[in-house]
Amino acid sequence: MKVGYVALIGRPNVGKSTLINRMLGEKVAIISDKPQTTRISILGIKTTDRGQIIFIDNPGIHKPLHKLNKRMMNFVYSALETADLICLLIDATLRYGHGDQFVIDSLRDIGTPKFCLINKVDLIRKDKILPMIDQYKDLLEFKEIIPISAMKGTNVDVLEDRIYENLPEAEKIYSDDDISTQSDRFLFSEIIREKILDQVREELPFVTAVYIDLIEDRGEDPEAPGKTKKYIKASIFVEKDNHRKIIIGRGGSLIKTVGIQARKELERLLDQKIYLDLQVRVKSKWRDSANVLDLIEQQ
Ligand code: GDP
Ligand code: MG
Repeated sequence: MKVGYVALIGRPNVGKSTLINRMLGEKVAIISDKPQTTRISILGIKTTDRGQIIFIDNPGIHKPLHKLNKRMMNFVYSALETADLICLLIDATLRYGHGDQFVIDSLRDIGTPKFCLINKVDLIRKDKILPMIDQYKDLLEFKEIIPISAMKGTNVDVLEDRIYENLPEAEKIYSDDDISTQSDRFLFSEIIREKILDQVREELPFVTAVYIDLIEDRGEDPEAPGKTKKYIKASIFVEKDNHRKIIIGRGGSLIKTVGIQARKELERLLDQKIYLDLQVRVKSKWRDSANVLDLIEQQ
């Protein structure tokens, strides 16, 4: 058996969640076309007859500007050092920039073997791919540079082969049915966050956090004998009162849409009737407030 940890890193929006979902075939990581959906690492576990690949989905590496980012950075670095393999994802449609340079520099001193995955190649001309591979070859010592499309599945089988080649021989760590060690709370809060991101444009999503206050089964569903109804209460934290107004929307319309969409997805996921109670709370500077961070990290 080949068993090991694979850290996925790259800019927000590069396609990490899409790749995890593609490889695992289930919705473990939340996908959004807006940056920075996943704040906390998610483990996705792929078990096959060849072994077990344990993916660590990291928030993008950023320069540590405030406390949240510092915590994230520490998390990212410890994950990178304990991983058996690092996969750096690159967005083929974007120009190489300062952010990329920073990530490459951060990786230089980490001894873990590294792959460079050039993602979204379905969006670029084929003749652009080889020059990109050459460019990344010179930037850092990569064991493999693989052009992929996480969305279309292109080369994902090749990637899986190469990953197995680079994992150590070991016993499986998780049982065959485990696909994720993330808690229900975290998954629920990410579903709500995803619906907020869908509804709100602007910069607001960067200062939104969702905390699940309560999950409770409340009696049998009269319309579905044998199934209970579930009550989920969640707080949406924002930094300013005008952010709260934006999330609530005119006459409560935006939060209502968020609530309906999140409820529908939760009902599909859990296959039971859900009551979803959303509260929007103003907590100024929550990003620097250790209490709120602790709450969210514990989910
Ligand atoms: P993350 O922030 O790195 O986790 O990125 P996501 O997985 O959430 O993806 C961000 C956006 O890029 C989503 O709209 C995805 O559908 C899109 N995306 C991801 N991979 C691909 C790909 O291979 N091709 C195309 N065309 N879009 C992709
Ligand atoms: Mg993501």
